[in-house]
Amino acid sequence: MNDSLGQHLQKSLSTIKKARWYRQEQKITDLSGYTITIDGEQLINFASNDYLGLATDIRLKQAVIEATERYGNGSTGSRLLSGHRTLHDDLEGAIASLKQTPKALVFSSGYLANLGTISALMGKKDLILGDEYNHSSLKNGAKLSQASILEYQHLNCEDLVDKLNKNRANHRHCLIITDSVFSMDGDIAPLPELLDIAQKFDCWLMVDEAHGTGVMGKQGAGCLEHFGLKNERIIQIGTLSKAVGSLGGYVAGSEILIDFLRNRCPTWIYTTALSIPDTAAALTGIHIIRTEAHRRHNLWTNINLLKKLCNQANLTLLPSDSAILCLPLKDASEALFISSKLRDNGFYIPAIRPPTVPTSRLRLSIMATHNISDLQKLIGILGKSCP
Ligand SMILES: *Cc1c(COP(=O)(O)O)cnc(C)c1O
Repeated sequence: MNDSLGQHLQKSLSTIKKARWYRQEQKITDLSGYTITIDGEQLINFASNDYLGLATDIRLKQAVIEATERYGNGSTGSRLLSGHRTLHDDLEGAIASLKQTPKALVFSSGYLANLGTISALMGKKDLILGDEYNHSSLKNGAKLSQASILEYQHLNCEDLVDKLNKNRANHRHCLIITDSVFSMDGDIAPLPELLDIAQKFDCWLMVDEAHGTGVMGKQGAGCLEHFGLKNERIIQIGTLSKAVGSLGGYVAGSEILIDFLRNRCPTWIYTTALSIPDTAAALTGIHIIRTEAHRRHNLWTNINLLKKLCNQANLTLLPSDSAILCLPLKDASEALFISSKLRDNGFYIPAIRPPTVPTSRLRLSIMATHNISDLQKLIGILGKSCP
């Protein structure tokens, strides 16, 4: 009765297709800015994490050219062997300075930073409590650590406290983990309350600022800056692949945390150092985030305008305080239908469906570089298309 590999995969894929969960890449054939070309069609792009428009910034490109001319392309080895360059030190210094922490450590991606940091910090005797909507990399990092894992209801501090009351005493260390801006909903974790709870129950708090960095806070440092929170028990984590406009991940925290990770974190030790071009681009991206606040202002002007236009058109968005806005829809079919209708009208807004999220929706990522007239046109079409 053993299925062949092909039969097994075919069955699994047809289940996905029946549920209308099947997904495919979209091939983009030009510069990916606030417009993109897919299948020869130019579309206004509402699917990009490049919130500030830095991924195509000329200064990031120039930094890449200069750095590759000087150091080459590949970093040739792991950080502890032959992969470490001055550029990595510079980037880690810039991140620590933005995040207002003593030190930072860069990884080849945010996903690897999360997997490695959680699994290095936590072990069998420990407890991890995570928001049920946390990013996949946080959930898989928790699994890899072999700690006991409990999920609390989304943003629900009462549920978290309840679970701590029942379970904290049975474990050695405890780590509370949360996205700062939730990647598929755009709402924000109650970080001040979470920090209070972490103090009360002697837990550490890991905050993933993937969608907060560059967007939230006066300097663009993220939600911790936005709330004015600083504490020894906080571990900041994030990506260089979103508003920073490059690729890579990081952890920011105390000197001893970084020293520990340099010696214990498998996804940092046993992989090749972040490539030269990515490192150079990220360094320039962080510098621009710190020095060009007008980009963040433009982004927030666009976010607030789109919310206002939705409101006027009676389109009810999910609660959000970030650059991610979601329009909830009845089911996957409806979400796909409206997404394709928008595409016919020149807008690229993907339908996000289960299993990525519990309920189907259109997810819009706002950029600092979107035009007011595009936002107005979009709401005009949405107002007519949505039930
Ligand atoms: C995108 C994202 C990551 C992964 O970062 P990459 O650098 O793309 O691997 C991790 N956490 C959250 C919350 C994210 O949105």
